[in-house]
Amino acid sequence: AVDLASKLTQAGALVDVVMTEGATRFVTPLTFGAVTHRQVHTDLFDPRSDLGMDHVAVALRADVVVVAPATAHTIAAMAVGLADDALTATVLATTAPIIVAPAMDANMYRNPATQENVERLRARGHTIVGPVEGRLASGLTGLGRLVDTAELMGYVRLVLARNGDLAGRKIVVSAGGTQEPVDPVRVITNRSSGKMGYAVAEAARDRGANAVLVSAPTTLPDPVGVDLVRVTTALEMRDAVAGRCEDADALVMAAAVADWRPVSAASHKLKKGTSDSWEIKLTKNPDIIAQLASEHLIKVGFAAESEDLVVNAQAKLREKGLHLIAANDVGEGSVFGADTNRVVLVDREGVAEELPVMSKYEVGHRILDRIAALLS
Ligand code: C5P
Repeated sequence: AVDLASKLTQAGALVDVVMTEGATRFVTPLTFGAVTHRQVHTDLFDPRSDLGMDHVAVALRADVVVVAPATAHTIAAMAVGLADDALTATVLATTAPIIVAPAMDANMYRNPATQENVERLRARGHTIVGPVEGRLASGLTGLGRLVDTAELMGYVRLVLARNGDLAGRKIVVSAGGTQEPVDPVRVITNRSSGKMGYAVAEAARDRGANAVLVSAPTTLPDPVGVDLVRVTTALEMRDAVAGRCEDADALVMAAAVADWRPVSAASHKLKKGTSDSWEIKLTKNPDIIAQLASEHLIKVGFAAESEDLVVNAQAKLREKGLHLIAANDVGEGSVFGADTNRVVLVDREGVAEELPVMSKYEVGHRILDRIAALLS
């Protein structure tokens, strides 16, 4: 909970921490105050607290309420609508969306009483996140561990995005480098990390879009609240992207699609043999984004160029029928695997907008700004 309060604060949120009596036995209010730089609320009747003046003050100013960790007791109190401490009174009085992240002993969680209470909260429209399997306070392993901070942050962003400017829009994003099989153990691939595409999909989610992420293999965690479709080869990516784009508003093609694939993949592992050289015959992969019609779909591509960035990007935009292209200069150091990127956005009018170095997530938002403008 301290980590969550800290990460939310770092992300720019104003975090009001409300603690139960039990919580203060584990962590001091000072700890939360130190990470949030705001008043911490523990007592409904404390005249020095905002709650002492107005017992629903925190409830009314919240955009989202996160109960984490939610104990069996707090979940039960919420289920019946008790309001005898700062936390339950806040939860009962708020009209903001509520996220509940249960954490308790596995037997307590499995108990039908708790299960019924959790279901009542879910039926009321609360978002229940977790618990997950793992080591518990008892030392035993079971279902009862609090989900990790990144997962909770994802749900907070998802819930806050409900009225975003892309609400009701479907945005398909591709990411990662495709893998083209040579035989059952070898592939031809590239150095794409997938970070740019994942960042665009998360940014789309954070603006309320129905975000679909067609991902070639990456080592990145599954983003919360994004419809993830896993593919391996360029042909699989083409089918998945084309299918998902039928009723989509926009496609952002951030994947590094292998230009070539082996003509045929061996069904068994190829032997090293005695020869000093080995040739693999390749055939061209289809151009996924170029093949899609652009009448009812905003098409955004990426271009990695080492010279004449804007001129080459403009040519690529025309050839592929794109609405917008994000061009990277790969001549001045690799962007592969980095968390930041520097791109030039080139549109159909030939206007080039040079963006400074920024996080890939922020680049995602700049691209989505353009998509939102085109859609309206
Ligand atoms: O590789 P190239 O520079 O042509 O890629 C430009 C854009 O086209 C990128 O957005 C890439 O994802 C997309 N592309 C594609 N299908 C391919 C190759 C590239 O959709 N076979």
